[in-house]
Amino acid sequence: MSRIRCAVILAAGIGSRLRTIHNDKPKGFLRLGDKPIIEESIARLVYAGINKIIIVNGYQNHYYDELKNKYPFVQTIKNEVYETTGSMYSLWIAKNLIHEDFLLLESDLLYEYNALQTLLNDERENVILLSGITNAGDEVYVGVEENQIVNMSKQIDDIKNYGGELVGISKISFDLYMKMNDFAVTQFDEKKNYHYEDCLTDLAASCKINFNLVEDLAWIEIDDEQHHKRAVEVIYPLINKRDKEIQLLKRVDRNVLLNPGPATTTDTVKYAMVVEDICPREIEFGELVENIRQDLVKVVHGEGTHEAILFASSGTGGIEACLTSVIPDNKTVLIINNGAYGKRMQQICDGFGIPQVKFDVTYGDAIDLIKLEEEILRHKEELSHIAFIHHETTVGILNPIDKISAIAQKYNLEIIVDAMSSYAGIPIDVKKDNIHFLISSANKCIQGMAGLSFVICNSESLIKTANYKRRNFYFNLFDNYTFFTKNKQMQFTPPVQIFYALRQAINEYFIETEQGRAKRYEEMYDVLYKGMKDLGFKFLVEKEHHAKLLTAIVEPEDPNYNFNNMHDYLFEKGFTIYPGKGAKVNTFRISNIGQIYVDDIRNFLNELKEYLQKNKITVN
Ligand SMILES: *Cc1c(COP(=O)(O)O)cnc(C)c1O
Repeated sequence: MSRIRCAVILAAGIGSRLRTIHNDKPKGFLRLGDKPIIEESIARLVYAGINKIIIVNGYQNHYYDELKNKYPFVQTIKNEVYETTGSMYSLWIAKNLIHEDFLLLESDLLYEYNALQTLLNDERENVILLSGITNAGDEVYVGVEENQIVNMSKQIDDIKNYGGELVGISKISFDLYMKMNDFAVTQFDEKKNYHYEDCLTDLAASCKINFNLVEDLAWIEIDDEQHHKRAVEVIYPLINKRDKEIQLLKRVDRNVLLNPGPATTTDTVKYAMVVEDICPREIEFGELVENIRQDLVKVVHGEGTHEAILFASSGTGGIEACLTSVIPDNKTVLIINNGAYGKRMQQICDGFGIPQVKFDVTYGDAIDLIKLEEEILRHKEELSHIAFIHHETTVGILNPIDKISAIAQKYNLEIIVDAMSSYAGIPIDVKKDNIHFLISSANKCIQGMAGLSFVICNSESLIKTANYKRRNFYFNLFDNYTFFTKNKQMQFTPPVQIFYALRQAINEYFIETEQGRAKRYEEMYDVLYKGMKDLGFKFLVEKEHHAKLLTAIVEPEDPNYNFNNMHDYLFEKGFTIYPGKGAKVNTFRISNIGQIYVDDIRNFLNELKEYLQKNKITVN
């Protein structure tokens, strides 16, 4: 059986018994923590590897429809006759969206993560999740025989051999779903309120429907004020406690990477790579690529104007692809070099003989925009592009996209931005900042695995390059673009597993949100900056230019100091730090990107302090 990647949430109902608590909102928008319970459910599903969520809504459907803006993997469909139909009708109308096995859930459920794990780890197809006694008041009892479901009813007297209570989370195979639909259409006329539980009962005799009983499951369906009270006081705290314990369960050894990428990833991203073998020329994989392309554009708000082109390469491959594809034959690119990555762009152009104007800045200094404009003026006839780094990872400077873009616009130039180590870590808006080409990779702030680079291209700028003289083959942007759009496939063999990891990483990014991730990173930077300062360290770059994603720290002059020695000591303790690179004074670098937390930074600072003391190193 292949992995389950789809979930269907039934959310059409009114929930009239709850009006006093949440006015006119649908039940899924009840809030016990910092987000509505439907969003808590979505987050759990994503962490369980689900990457397509179909919500069937009805009553006040716009609440659910709005979730699509926040979570691109959510689709909705409305049951127009929700007031007069049962849940099976809702499930049936989703038939054009469902093409695979799925998890079926109700929208008003609070449940612990283990509920999903139990079903997903169950080897059998078609499994209904049951719990022990809840005394909820409107339980659905399930009758069983051996391993299978016989019937379900709210009347315990209807049950011959009691197996447990229905939770409202089930694993349904596509095959069973089709049988349910075939049967349901014969019932709708007579039974207005035909529910999916009724349908499962009706099919129980002819189809094998299994159950999995978790006696002590923490869950509740919130139907009335009584349930709500119990949820707030007992169940919700219990769920949070248990879910936290699951997160803390050590699965893969965790290293805290303080090097600027590849960054620390979640276990769920790591596990997303363990998938069935699939030929990347299959439609299913094409859809995965297509959705990833769209979502990568969405991260920088380029919907409708920009296209993402992906390459199997490290980040530098994406830069090479861009520079060798978009500068016309008779034109020149101005490249700003205020760190090793700016220099790398210049080296690429040197290698390919692309005419360039080199604008060099001392490493550690910010770009002098007045000088930059003067240089542009001197070359304005020959220039077509300005290329620069957003977060210059060599030194930890954030170069100002908005200001450079404004200058570029003044002289009618396009801009090429290497946002390798800022994309998804700092909010970027390609439309607002008029960015023509933006390059990043899968293994930095988006928190996927190394092996994929991508160029987010303004569509008009990209199409302009169609007939440019070719300097490249594998890396041609336009050729890859046309291949994608024609065939919904990568032009050349993609790193399949890295794509699945990226899919998961993007979903987790949307769950954390743009602001949420930037805030987590910034909080780590604040603690790091203060901690290093308190230890006596000096910084390479003036504070106002700090990107807050990586900090370059001046090396102590004490003869007892030795970078490699310090690195090895900290590495033993689980922290990977990074050497400096060609700045005006010697530095080492600490980055704060990836799935790491303020506590990791605090622990790092403690270890560093201990190291300095043990080795009698005075910092300044
Ligand atoms: C990491 C990085 C790159 C690309 O490095 P690769 O090793 O090719 O992935 C390019 N530019 C910047 C600013 C970076 O931080």
